[in-house]
Order: sequence, then C-alpha cells, then structure tokens
Amino acid sequence: MSLLKPSLRTPFHIDFAWWVENDRDWHVYFRSLLCPEHQQLLADLPEGTMVDWIDPKTAEVRPVDGIQHAIMSHCALLPDFLTEHTALVEAVFRIFLVNGNQPMSVEEMSNQLHRPAATILRTLSGPRVYRGLRPFLEARPEEHVDSVQVPDA
Ligand SMILES: [Zn+2]
Repeated sequence: MSLLKPSLRTPFHIDFAWWVENDRDWHVYFRSLLCPEHQQLLADLPEGTMVDWIDPKTAEVRPVDGIQHAIMSHCALLPDFLTEHTALVEAVFRIFLVNGNQPMSVEEMSNQLHRPAATILRTLSGPRVYRGLRPFLEARPEEHVDSVQVPDA
C-alpha cells in the first residue's frame, strides 16, 4: 500500500470497506445516525440488506447498505444532523453523508464547515483513520464486502 502524503487538494471520502474491516459493530453506529422515523421504519431491516443508490452527480447506480441509503437520502439532510457544535471529525464524516459520499478535498470541507483547513488536514493525514475517512484513490481496485476475511471462521 502506498502512502502518499495528503495535501489540501487530495480528495477524501468515507471508505465503507474500512468500517466493515475495522468495526464489527458498524451497523450499530450507522443505525444511531438514523432519524427517529427511520429508526422505527428500519428497526427490522436485516443487516447487510443492499439497495440501489443513484449517485446524484453521475446518475450512476451503485448498491449501498440499506441503512446508509436511508441516512444519505433522508436523515443526513435534516437540519440538526450537522451543526456548528458538531465535533470536527464527526462533522467531516457527516458532510460526506450529506453529499452522498462525493469525494471532497480538505479545502472544500473547510469551506463547507467553516473550520480551519490546516486542522482538518492534520487530523485526516495522521496515522489513525477516523470514521473511515481516507483519501479517495480512483485507480483503486474494487473492494467487495464479501471478500472480507472473518478471523475466527
Ligand atoms: Zn430519516
């Protein structure tokens, strides 16, 4: 894996494969982001249910997790989802949910969040990956959820 030092122009996105690999309970976290209405509506949705997500910019259809779909198409668009009081990492994570996980540079995040670009860059370019926020690499081979190894299987 090549580690290029990210710059202010490096596009980032939420790498959902990171969540699957690094957080066994990622469904619990994503469910906590649902609005009260969707918490109820999707309470019985089996984990791993995929639905078609239509990329708002390219009109490309991609399969996404049903919970992520509800968040990106509804819950993240509610006014209280992201406020000026939201902690930095959480705010960065949430703008990607609001915009349907379109790759965005630190400069763009800084403009949208009105927070200093240098602070965002320092946070995102450190050794630790927060909330699956990683540089978006176009040439990267597809990572499929079903290729993830379960250690004790
Ligand atoms: Zn909702």
